[in-house]
Amino acid sequence: MNRQAFDTYEANQEMTSAINASPHGEGLMKSLCREVGTRPSGSPAMGQAAELLAEQWRGFGAANVHTEPVSLNAWDEADSRVEILSPVQRSYTSVQCVYSGSGTVTGQIIDARDLGSEELGTLGEDIRGAIVLVKGHEISGSKFEPMSKKVSLAEKAGASAVLLASRHPELPAIECLSRPASIPVIGLSGNDASELAAIVGEQTVQARIRAGGHSREATCVNLVGELGPDKAADEIIILSAHLDCYYLAPCAFDNLTGVVALTEAARALAPYKKSFARTLRIIAYTGEEYGFLGSKEYVRAHADELDRIRFVLNLDGLFDDTARGLAVMWAPQMRDYIDCALQDLGSDVDVRNLFCMSSDYLPFMLQGIPAARPASYIGPYPTCSHTVEDTEDKVLTESLQANAIVCARALLRMLTDPQPLPSNRKTPQEIRELIEQEDAQDALWWAGVIE
Ligand SMILES: [Zn+2]
Repeated sequence: MNRQAFDTYEANQEMTSAINASPHGEGLMKSLCREVGTRPSGSPAMGQAAELLAEQWRGFGAANVHTEPVSLNAWDEADSRVEILSPVQRSYTSVQCVYSGSGTVTGQIIDARDLGSEELGTLGEDIRGAIVLVKGHEISGSKFEPMSKKVSLAEKAGASAVLLASRHPELPAIECLSRPASIPVIGLSGNDASELAAIVGEQTVQARIRAGGHSREATCVNLVGELGPDKAADEIIILSAHLDCYYLAPCAFDNLTGVVALTEAARALAPYKKSFARTLRIIAYTGEEYGFLGSKEYVRAHADELDRIRFVLNLDGLFDDTARGLAVMWAPQMRDYIDCALQDLGSDVDVRNLFCMSSDYLPFMLQGIPAARPASYIGPYPTCSHTVEDTEDKVLTESLQANAIVCARALLRMLTDPQPLPSNRKTPQEIRELIEQEDAQDALWWAGVIE
């Protein structure tokens, strides 16, 4: 393919070397983890992190770097307790899920780990007043049964609390209920949940649960910047990643990996901005963990501009595997386009058409805008995510560089291509049909992204 006035081959060699030699990625990861630390949405730390990042973005020449307000419910955490009262006495390390109810409840534990949402309703009277143990967030490819649905159906059936068995064997994981509940929802480590289930299998188990977290109204920010030719371009390509995290850890993997790869890719693209035919808009969102709140607000506030947004590349939870795969959502022609651009450079990234609904590209997709994300098709997805173990020592600089290189390459082609991109916006009718095809109506509703 040789349709460009711009020599992207040479530019790609230069970008690759620049990313591999850049000391900034590692430095940014360190300062965000050590100087800022945990950054829950609506906390002062999120403001501090956005300032630090804005400085980096201005440093490589990003223009119009500014914040945009996002109203959301912040979460004030409190210690939770899970105590077994009989037949043994024991307490477990636990964590209360965001937007779940507070209070103290005592009840019998029911093991419902093998039941689907709908089956929770079939437990009849047994569930009334009980504490229900279910499986927490499962990541199986692109689709999942939102946890909020399980919790809500358990609550409706009369459960007094829900315990979530985490994917992590040794640590409880925190989750957020995209549809809030008024009963406590508490995460337990996978091993503790299994141990508890083994006791429940033999005898009647009484437990007491205490939870004290609550939400409060707050304002947070999305950070936005631009890279483009001096004369404003009509079309916009978005490169985004969420900056917020849970309060448990600095959340290096989920999602400073995305924030750092975004920054490094944009830094590498900056020297070529005069050759851009489109503007690259870079966005660091707040509120992703609490239900894509920052990207939802962005799409709402920029409704007039959505026709100009030609593509969204969102980075969330990057590791070695995600540098070898790219999932393109609802845009087969853009899949072909990106595949061709990367193949021209001799890269063997596996670009697939794959419906996903895991992160901040989703509100754009639902507005008909083509989107993609670096994706691992084989997994395992790191279990440190959403636990106290999500710390910087587990993130490899080389893997961030590999991810940033793939993004920079795909974006350079899109940004400099003088030809129109095959990325027409879908109509509301087309979107409805696609949702139906994926049978995703229910999951999207529970994820809080459609009404
Ligand atoms: Zn994330």
